[in-house]
Amino acid sequence: MDVMNPIDARPPLVGRTALVTGASRGIGRALAEALARAGARVIVNFREDSEEAESVVGGIRTNGGEALAVRADISRVDDHESLLAAARSAFGPLHILINNAGVERRAGVLDWREADWDEIQGVNLRGVFFLTQAAARDMIAAGVQHGRIINVSSTHEHRPMARAAIYNISKAGLAMLTKSFALELAPHGITVNGLVPGAIRTDINREVLADPAYEARVVARIPLGHIAAPPELGAAAVFLAGAGSAYMTGSTLTLDGGLSL
Ligand code: NAD
Repeated sequence: MDVMNPIDARPPLVGRTALVTGASRGIGRALAEALARAGARVIVNFREDSEEAESVVGGIRTNGGEALAVRADISRVDDHESLLAAARSAFGPLHILINNAGVERRAGVLDWREADWDEIQGVNLRGVFFLTQAAARDMIAAGVQHGRIINVSSTHEHRPMARAAIYNISKAGLAMLTKSFALELAPHGITVNGLVPGAIRTDINREVLADPAYEARVVARIPLGHIAAPPELGAAAVFLAGAGSAYMTGSTLTLDGGLSL
């Protein structure tokens, strides 16, 4: 397939291998399913929920796609090599990495403990940094053309959310990670972009959205008037992973219903 030919009639990601971290549920699941529908072979990374991950894989296979569930804790750099090796041996060289796995915790700035910092930064920033580094090394060594790295960030990369300082800081760091890798990987033909969701209904915010007054306040701030469902991000991920975004790097695609306005 000529991935650089946007008028190719076949599904846009046929022949491409993608790894989506934290893909057993929520946004990661929706992105994995969207990429598979677009023809990519997908590695569904999970940390704990092997049943959920297998059900994502089962759904993709039922629809005629190819997928494999692989366990790895993204905060553990030691896990990265086995994750990438499993991807390689199942589907060949990796073309697309979606850094989606993330954790969000709530506390006031006066109350955070060092362990909270290590947990949140360990997944959201440190883990992303070293997995991106390892994946990019693999892409370069394999001579992959048009590699794609997509980092799932947040509107809180530039606008703080109260009681989430460590999360906000991790996403601000991720925004600069995206730009720094974009700059240095461009000569290798690898693009690195951010995908910024606004408020999306997933497990990450289930507890806070269980309070109807809180939910109403969130919805009131979204010009398009609703909290999105994860599949609403799928087409944007396919665009960032495909030929249409070839001249885009170090940039951000925001899908927030106008929340940032
Ligand atoms: P979620 O809690 O449903 O999903 C997070 C996923 O990451 C889970 O599958 C979890 O198991 C996985 N994960 C966490 N730590 C991991 C680790 N160490 N190793 C491997 N996997 C790990 O929440 P979500 O909303 O789907 O979040 C996905 C991404 O989207 C996160 O990066 C989050 O910051 C971002 N995001 C979410 C929203 C939102 O409103 N839901 C908004 C902006 C950004």
